Amino acid sequence: MDYARRIQQLPRYLFAELDAAKQQARQRGVDVIDLGVGDPDLPTPRHIVEALARGARDPSTHQYPSYEGDLEFREAVARMYRRVHGVRLDPHREVIALIGSKEGIAHAPLAFINPGERVLVPDPGYPVYRASTILAGGRPVEMPLREKNGFLPDLSKVRGGARLMFLNYPNNPTAAVAPRGFLREAVDFCRDRGVHLLHDFAYGEMGFDVRPPSVLSVPGARDAAVEFHSLSKTYCMTGWRLGFAVGNAELLAGLLKVKTNIDSGAFRAVQRAGIAALNGPRGPARKSLGVYRERRDLFVEGLRRLGLRFHPPRATFYVWVRVPRGSTSLGFSGRLLEGVGVVATPGVGFGRHGEGYVRFSLTKPRERIREALERMEDVLGAPKARQ
Ligand SMILES: *Cc1c(COP(=O)(O)O)cnc(C)c1O
Repeated sequence: MDYARRIQQLPRYLFAELDAAKQQARQRGVDVIDLGVGDPDLPTPRHIVEALARGARDPSTHQYPSYEGDLEFREAVARMYRRVHGVRLDPHREVIALIGSKEGIAHAPLAFINPGERVLVPDPGYPVYRASTILAGGRPVEMPLREKNGFLPDLSKVRGGARLMFLNYPNNPTAAVAPRGFLREAVDFCRDRGVHLLHDFAYGEMGFDVRPPSVLSVPGARDAAVEFHSLSKTYCMTGWRLGFAVGNAELLAGLLKVKTNIDSGAFRAVQRAGIAALNGPRGPARKSLGVYRERRDLFVEGLRRLGLRFHPPRATFYVWVRVPRGSTSLGFSGRLLEGVGVVATPGVGFGRHGEGYVRFSLTKPRERIREALERMEDVLGAPKARQ
């Protein structure tokens, strides 16, 4: 098939291959424990489901929604930002709705780069930054996230111009949280060089013992930055496809121009559910965060006993773990799957600087996580304490 060149230029999608390997293991009768995908196993809280049901029954939601999202939804976003992140937003100009944040991230380069222009992307990183740059004819330039720098890019090493910079904290896949000082440095860097800063804040409310800072809480950020955000992770709504972008009004207007020509907005009943999520009772989101914290504590203790190296995550539901000496990330994840039916995502799937790591996603119940740890002993040898 003669696909367009831009499709051929996309990097190979490792996760699709991983899915195939998982499938094969299941067909062989292996009881697979999938700690690979970052998709919450907990159901969407009830009050949100009820709001959708009510919205779906109201015929006024059945027609094309507005491109930018209902004002009530954008106001709910602004209220959440004020309450949680201490950031004031004008819901008319500084908030737009997205059909999931991936949609906005994927469309943004179309609004801001010309063919051949450079886009700074974190490596390892969420694969969409690189792919959307390529689809828009741009050139991804990787910013390595190194363990010795706390998985923050070293901006003093960035050479040459660029149109856009993607950042993502709390970070997928490393689970690193950026201190506000780093975000300030990034904003200054981008403002000085005329780079538009696109911050992916999908895990913004998923700090365990920290309040991860919004880039918009940094002075001057509004001149240069847009923040992408999502209902998916905080409220267990990955299937619902609802996100939003906030920040610089001109940048948002550019993105909206692209979107207006491609999609027709998020279903209004889903936006009403989003309002219930953002402004409704806090209990359910707090509870699911507590579940992830318990899983983290359990998993972290198990990894320690297994003698693996990692930094206990302070946010997100990921754990980024060094592979044992002498292994590659693909080799180690292959050994876990073929040997004991445990799925971890190989770090190279997130870029070449992810080599040497695997990512575990704690989106399975405690019993399954405990079982995965026990099985991993069979691959790694008995825990040190019992040798
Ligand atoms: C899950 C995730 C997203 C996408 O979220 P949606 O709103 O469901 O599209 C974006 N960025 C990162 C880093 C993610 O992990």
